[in-house]
Amino acid sequence: ICLTSRGSAVRIRQRPLNIIICRSLTVKSVRLSYYNMVDMSMLNGYTELVGLMASPIRHSHSPAMQNEAFRRAGINCVQLAFEVDNSCLKEAVHAIRALGMRGSNVSMPNKTVVGKYLDKLSPAAQLIGSVNTIVNDHGVLTGYCTDGIGFMASLKDEGIDITGKKITVVGAGGAATAIQIQAALDGVAEISIFNVKDQFYEAGEETVRKINKFTDCKASIYDLADHAALRREIADSCLLSNATGLGMKPYEDITWLPDTTFLRPDLIVTDTVYAPSMTKFLGMAREVGCRYMNGHGMMLFQGAAAFQLWTGKQMDVDHMKQWLREVGIF
Ligand code: NAD
Repeated sequence: ICLTSRGSAVRIRQRPLNIIICRSLTVKSVRLSYYNMVDMSMLNGYTELVGLMASPIRHSHSPAMQNEAFRRAGINCVQLAFEVDNSCLKEAVHAIRALGMRGSNVSMPNKTVVGKYLDKLSPAAQLIGSVNTIVNDHGVLTGYCTDGIGFMASLKDEGIDITGKKITVVGAGGAATAIQIQAALDGVAEISIFNVKDQFYEAGEETVRKINKFTDCKASIYDLADHAALRREIADSCLLSNATGLGMKPYEDITWLPDTTFLRPDLIVTDTVYAPSMTKFLGMAREVGCRYMNGHGMMLFQGAAAFQLWTGKQMDVDHMKQWLREVGIF
């Protein structure tokens, strides 16, 4: 482990000796929150590139995770983050074709805008109205949304099957819409959506319309202020999910859940928030004895789905979970 000139910790692994070089022994407790280990010996004229286009983006853990996944799988590819907002998104997407990049991840504020610059959209991306992964197949760019896929895969990974069942999801923004549409496409029988009457409520109504029109799932939306409806819908559901930003900074100590009497021990409770890993909402679920999951799984599996779209290979998720814990991302 060594320190860069900016003071961040970096691990250098020299193959084949696997030497760890220390540049400073004065480090006492550097939090290894971020170190990215691309095996430089793999980079050559054949190295493929995938991007991550968003703004702001430097805080993202995605390049660290994808580059570790490429290294682990022995795939000669790297992911780099590019500070791209709507003002230069069109040119950035053209660059994917022009440079022969394998594709890109896309995050805010580009997720809902980038579709118009692509050649094709997956059925889920089309319905969700959002793209977080672009794949370049010989100049044909296809947009996918892996957030909902990641949510569903994270449940499966825990042995949880919600197909044919009813769930309640609070939220109508990007994460919530991806979860709701993917769950409906994957065979969930009924989804009750709750949201505050803000600018996202209309998006929730649109999601309900799409689910009821294009899938076999039955969806409804309610005002989150209607606590009688909230209690009733949760009582009928096998799973309750928070897909709002409440629980993350600057709302760490806040939840929309009025009190623990809305929960019961056999309810599965999930949160899209991953930092902090234990939100107030999940704390209430723990108190009641519910099985609960934070947003780490969704984050990991949306990345695994993107990795598979680019490489045709499965990410080694067991290794990745351990690695993410080791480097302090999880
Ligand atoms: P967004 O801005 O698109 O949506 C925000 C949602 O929060 C809306 O439904 C809004 O109505 C609701 N909201 C805002 N203030 C509220 C309040 N005071 N009370 C109740 N509801 C309120 O955000 P997003 O992109 O959907 O992200 C939502 C959360 O999901 C964030 O915490 C984000 O970090 C997380 N997320 C996690 C993953 C993952 O992989 N785990 C992926 C995407 C997003």
